[in-house]
Amino acid sequence: PDNILEICDVRKHFNVGHKQIVKSVDGITFSIKKGETLGIVGESGSGKSTIGRTIVGLYEATAGKVVFEGKDISQLDRRNKRDVNRRMQMIFQDPYASLNPRMRVGDIVAEGIEAYGLAKGKAKQERVFQLLERVGLNPDHAARFPHEFSGGQRQRIGIARALAVEPSYIVADEPISALDVSIQAQIVNLLEDLQKQENLTYLFIAHDLAMVKHISDRIGVMYLGKMMELADSRKLFQNPLHPYTKALLSAIPVPNPKLRGARERIVLGGELPSPINPPSGCPFRTRCPSAMDHCAKAVPEWKEVQENHWVACHLY
Ligand code: SF4
Ligand code: MG
Repeated sequence: PDNILEICDVRKHFNVGHKQIVKSVDGITFSIKKGETLGIVGESGSGKSTIGRTIVGLYEATAGKVVFEGKDISQLDRRNKRDVNRRMQMIFQDPYASLNPRMRVGDIVAEGIEAYGLAKGKAKQERVFQLLERVGLNPDHAARFPHEFSGGQRQRIGIARALAVEPSYIVADEPISALDVSIQAQIVNLLEDLQKQENLTYLFIAHDLAMVKHISDRIGVMYLGKMMELADSRKLFQNPLHPYTKALLSAIPVPNPKLRGARERIVLGGELPSPINPPSGCPFRTRCPSAMDHCAKAVPEWKEVQENHWVACHLY
């Protein structure tokens, strides 16, 4: 009931030719609570963007189920499907690539308002001006083109465009990774303010834990198409269970290394395996300092080992 989304054993496989299949997302189960920010971290190729896009319907799942507000989205009729498409929006890493360079900013923001028939004429125009102000731009910006703006401002335009259609759930796919460090905090603050005002739920995707730490209520860690661990943000940082999460955390620089306590730097050996030919059993076993014989033979089960703390590892 308080889950806005339930992701049940979702798979997304891509046929990459020569009879090869990339199991970009390979059996992932978790839920997202209404109003929370769920951070997802993983290296490139971990499937984090793919799961984000599959949930909003940009990709069709190969298998599994996405349940949004109690309804299986694959079973919706056209009208309900359209409504769900409106209420699930995305913000992209490179706002410039996702903004049509030939369209004025006002038209970019108005596009969805028009498409979903939310307002027209003067009311639509007013709504566009309001949206620009809410994301920290101003009404004069409506007449300009995307190239006239800085990276941070373009991301604000992308956020205004997403907000324009009154979503309840937003996937932010590395929304700050391409921005200067000084701008990153501004965008994160903006997203947090909007979340409170609009009661939004976020899936916030990033490539490292430090980036999702402050904004996330819970964090999921992905590796080679699978979720390795998922827990409350603070719990994950204080008591990581999965060897991969432990290694990621040990790599985050801390101001005073003595305060790291027992957490020694763990350097992972080996390369990230090819997603075309992932290891048998546990996908992390070729780099895991704790790997056992059994890890090559059986895929570890996705288990709730402590309350609200999920992990996929034979150690637990
Ligand atoms: Fe390491 Fe085995 Fe756990 Fe995988 S299942 S993370 S290889 S201990
Ligand atoms: Mg990506």
